[in-house]
Amino acid sequence: MNWNNGDETARAPRTLRKGLLYFYRAMRLRCPTCGAKPIFPPARSVRSLRDWFTPLDGCPQCGYAYEREEGYFLMAIWGVNYGLIGLGAMSLYFLLRINTDWSPFWLFCGTVLPAPFACIFFARHAKSLFLALDHFFDPHLRTQKTEKKSE
Ligand SMILES: [Zn+2]
Repeated sequence: MNWNNGDETARAPRTLRKGLLYFYRAMRLRCPTCGAKPIFPPARSVRSLRDWFTPLDGCPQCGYAYEREEGYFLMAIWGVNYGLIGLGAMSLYFLLRINTDWSPFWLFCGTVLPAPFACIFFARHAKSLFLALDHFFDPHLRTQKTEKKSE
């Protein structure tokens, strides 16, 4: 199997290996399908904060469309980004609160207060992870061009 061929990878059965490959590509902010090209524009071409957080329209290598529909990445931000960061910060707070005798104030300052900033740094990875998760569970295959369509 050629894991760099987009559609071939997408058609492959859902295995742990494929899931780990998609996760690896997501953490590197690469196209989940081919892994060859980045999802976001290069840093030198970023002109605004919006550019930084907005993925490209699609993969220049394999043609995989990153944003399937309007508002596609809304769930990435609410579910993946806020979910993971918020849950992680609160879990860490309560774990340390139960297992240490540290002051709740300093625990709060060390775990919950940095969470909004962590969300900003994790936003691109959240989108990339969401893209990989969606592509893993609901592969987005390119349709075959049918010849003589008008006949
Ligand atoms: Zn690609």
